[in-house]
Amino acid sequence: MYDKDQFLKALENKGYTAHWFATGEEAADYVCSQVKGCTVGFGGSKTVIDELGLVDKLAENNACFCPEKPYRPEEKTFNEAALDTLRTDVFLLSVNGAAVDGTLVNIDGTGNRAGSSLFGHRKVFFIFGENKIMPTLDEAVARARNVASPRNAAFLECKTPCAVKGEKCFDCKSPDRICNAMVIYMHAMEGTEMEAVVIGEPHGF
Ligand code: SF4
Repeated sequence: MYDKDQFLKALENKGYTAHWFATGEEAADYVCSQVKGCTVGFGGSKTVIDELGLVDKLAENNACFCPEKPYRPEEKTFNEAALDTLRTDVFLLSVNGAAVDGTLVNIDGTGNRAGSSLFGHRKVFFIFGENKIMPTLDEAVARARNVASPRNAAFLECKTPCAVKGEKCFDCKSPDRICNAMVIYMHAMEGTEMEAVVIGEPHGF
């Protein structure tokens, strides 16, 4: 369990604007109130895209670019659609793990999500449920590797040992492997406004 106020303070100490909402719906309403008249890019995220429905909601007042199905334009490959997200005003993603000291963790296969979270935008939102918050960075990394990635691989119907056998990383050599780089956000990046939106309920993998 984490202390909400201490966690928000830890995020602020690392350079993030930080807000906490009891529900995903409240968090989505808040993000929509903050993002209007922008180009918006999305990294793959069960929380942001599927559960909070932010592509559809933000499209009411913004131009949205998302390489994930069903939002990817039919004529574009994943990489082509992902390139469209790299220079948007705003970029949205979640995290695979977070430590109570405010350190965030993401694992990526193609690099569009993790890479775009580091540079190229006026503002980046990290939107995540409290199930991602762990007592230490080691545990946040272990969660990202052994919980988030296997669940994501199963969701994507990858033929990886973690998806087939269960919740553990086997550091596989599978062609379907989805874990190729890990980003540990020690602090908000210089030159980009970064905001953490924490949800007081479980969301995503
Ligand atoms: S490296 Fe392979 S086994 Fe480990 S979580 Fe990623 S896809 Fe699964």
